[in-house]
Amino acid sequence: MDSICIKARAKINLSLDVLRKREDGYHDVRMIMQSISLHDNVFLSLTDENVIRVSCDKMWVPTNSDNIAYKAAKVLMDKFNLHKGIDIKIVKNIPVAAGLAGGSADAAAVLKGMNELFFLNLGQEELMQIGKNIGADVPFCIKGGTMLAEGIGEILTDIAPLKNVDIVLVKPKISVSTAWVYKNLNIDKIVLRPDTDYIVDLIEKGDLQNLGRKMVNVLETVTVKKYEIINEIKEKLIKLGAFGSMMSGSGPTVFGIFENKLTAQKAYEEINNDNRWDCILTETFCEER
Ligand code: ATP
Repeated sequence: MDSICIKARAKINLSLDVLRKREDGYHDVRMIMQSISLHDNVFLSLTDENVIRVSCDKMWVPTNSDNIAYKAAKVLMDKFNLHKGIDIKIVKNIPVAAGLAGGSADAAAVLKGMNELFFLNLGQEELMQIGKNIGADVPFCIKGGTMLAEGIGEILTDIAPLKNVDIVLVKPKISVSTAWVYKNLNIDKIVLRPDTDYIVDLIEKGDLQNLGRKMVNVLETVTVKKYEIINEIKEKLIKLGAFGSMMSGSGPTVFGIFENKLTAQKAYEEINNDNRWDCILTETFCEER
């Protein structure tokens, strides 16, 4: 085998709490992460030249060493002294800088794919250990499913899988940098925090209606203040029948969770005719274990 294609799935956050700023500048978080079906395709091929090449069908994604997929390949090349090169082609479907962990998903796909192509025989835990030095969300993207994430996001605990829940994603055409959001977050002034343990219980029970009501993302305290459009989308999704709607990660993507495909499809069609944002119909994804 000298080539492979890996699906790099996006994530949404079903809750996101920031507990404290650490000495090293990172933040301790407590959040519920959920894989969704929306994915990039990452094609990997072995080459004889000992170099890493990255290409992407979206020209605004970097293809040099700034691409996190490149970084993932470089880490494995150096760690295992690999003597072949790798060609990485990314077909990008996940909106970029959107709070959906698109870059981390690509990096996770490279680690998984190179593990196969180079017969490295690394287990999932080992891949996750390597991944956490590449990005805080990379371990989750390796594992996928429904997880409680703690630490800087790399300490993962399984929750009952939330399968095939219908989701509408709405990404306003604005750019929000994750660094800016965390810099402007005033942790002491957060009034509304998620009751994460209760939300985990609701997921275990499959109670989507109450999950929708109880979801909280404390990073909205920063983004909503500056970008009213995030609130506008949240309210629209609720009016269109979502059980709940919330910003994912540091935004700006907002998602709504729906009772079934029909209600999700209808909401998607209604909200999709506004050129201030892009919409995607998707669903939660959990691999059979
Ligand atoms: P984060 O919360 O980590 O910023 P995100 O999901 O909001 O993640 P990404 O789509 O990962 O955002 O992109 C963040 C930045 O990383 C972008 O500005 C982009 O230029 C850069 N980047 C590097 N590699 C990739 C990649 N493979 N796919 C997308 N963006 C990438």
